[in-house]
Amino acid sequence: MNVDAVVRAVQKELGLFVDGKPGPKTWEAIYLRVFGKKPPEDGGDLPPRFEGQVDGRSEKVIATLQPEVRSHARALVMKAAEVRITIKVISGLRTYAEQNALYAQGRTKSGRIVTNARGGYSNHNFGIAFDIGVFDGAEYIPESPRYKAIGAIGADLGLEWGGNWKTIQDEPHFQLRPRWAANDTEKEMLGELRARHASGRGYFT
Ligand SMILES: [Zn+2]
Repeated sequence: MNVDAVVRAVQKELGLFVDGKPGPKTWEAIYLRVFGKKPPEDGGDLPPRFEGQVDGRSEKVIATLQPEVRSHARALVMKAAEVRITIKVISGLRTYAEQNALYAQGRTKSGRIVTNARGGYSNHNFGIAFDIGVFDGAEYIPESPRYKAIGAIGADLGLEWGGNWKTIQDEPHFQLRPRWAANDTEKEMLGELRARHASGRGYFT
């Protein structure tokens, strides 16, 4: 999907000039939509701004990601803070074994089905994908229109957002597509990632 598509969609929905470039007006409109008021100049009574720092919980997860993806994840947390939305990176790399254990849940093990991907069939298995959570202070908010705002910010940063997926939408999910996979389907990209994983080649070279 075109990187600008989300920003264009947001601009169109909000009745702004559609150019695919998220200016302050787009963010202000997103903020207005989410909080029902204009963003305060100084932070006001809203969550404190990150001073160029990402929280420790996020950093632990970010450390599991490919180096190319880490700066994107940090930028997403900090850009979210700029529009007074607190997010944390809550899930990063999953090994094939961890993915298989997750896949077994609701199938050969108890619990509800949480994934349709076996080991090697999720972008999480290669450290190119991560999931975020929206927070109010310490409280995790699993569903909120704020996820859509974060999706638009992620697209601006060059990330792919799970909220854009046609079949199963996954609003907390972001991934960084390697350049060689620019025109690949998801299936083709995963096939090449598995081959690189097997041979120990890098994912972004
Ligand atoms: Zn995910």
